[in-house]
Amino acid sequence: MKDNGCYLCKSDTKYLFEKNNRKYAKCLSCGLVYIASLKDPEKTELENHYSQKESTHQEKLNKKEYKKLIKRMEYRLGIIENYCHSKGKLLDIGCGQGSFLDVAKNNGWECSGVEISKNDCKYVREKLNIKVHNTELSGVNFPDDYFDAITLWHVFEHFIDPLTELKEIHRILSPGGIVCLEIPNIDSLAFRILGKKWKYINDEHIFYFNKKTIGRFIKTSGFKLMYITGISGFPWWGKYRGLKELIHGFITATGVGDHLVLVLKKI
Ligand SMILES: [Zn+2]
Repeated sequence: MKDNGCYLCKSDTKYLFEKNNRKYAKCLSCGLVYIASLKDPEKTELENHYSQKESTHQEKLNKKEYKKLIKRMEYRLGIIENYCHSKGKLLDIGCGQGSFLDVAKNNGWECSGVEISKNDCKYVREKLNIKVHNTELSGVNFPDDYFDAITLWHVFEHFIDPLTELKEIHRILSPGGIVCLEIPNIDSLAFRILGKKWKYINDEHIFYFNKKTIGRFIKTSGFKLMYITGISGFPWWGKYRGLKELIHGFITATGVGDHLVLVLKKI
């Protein structure tokens, strides 16, 4: 495919498919999948889209949905706390309405967020009383070695220039600090079956990773991979719990779940 070569390794790419007038390419060498046809005006459009996007309206969730959301956030926090010796400063990039930050704060972390959406920032500040910066990460200019943990929950695949973002994350993270991210898994069973109809192939996602390609990003950016798993959505509770956990366990063990969860350490 005629573009400037792979974003990550500069090798030649092949055309994969087209969706919503966007061409998707796969690197012939490293296997990275991404939207190859994204040009500057579209990048600006995407940024405007995020800043004006409707909020998720966490307050509209019913009791059951809210409970499920909190369980999910506690699961995420548990992963981080497995790798952190103490609870210090935590930054959630793309924090949305701050449900993860709220859980972390209630568990003793000193929390702040970065979020492009004005509405979400207002919610986080006023309802949760958590510090949030209404800009992109590069717009804040945090001090060097500042945070003990940085999280990105389904945010990394949205970045137009993920290597630059990782470099900035590395700079503001304390030595030995932890990054935890969750991204869609292009090696998932669902993508293999559904192809471009897979729910994560959408206009907001620029890069699509598997264990190998995300591993290369991490290595290039000065991090050590501490933990990686492919999970089937999130752990399930409620009805048919036993059966659901069995399926979840199987998908996690085979690494073909929809999501990859990773823990990185700054070296
Ligand atoms: Zn490549």
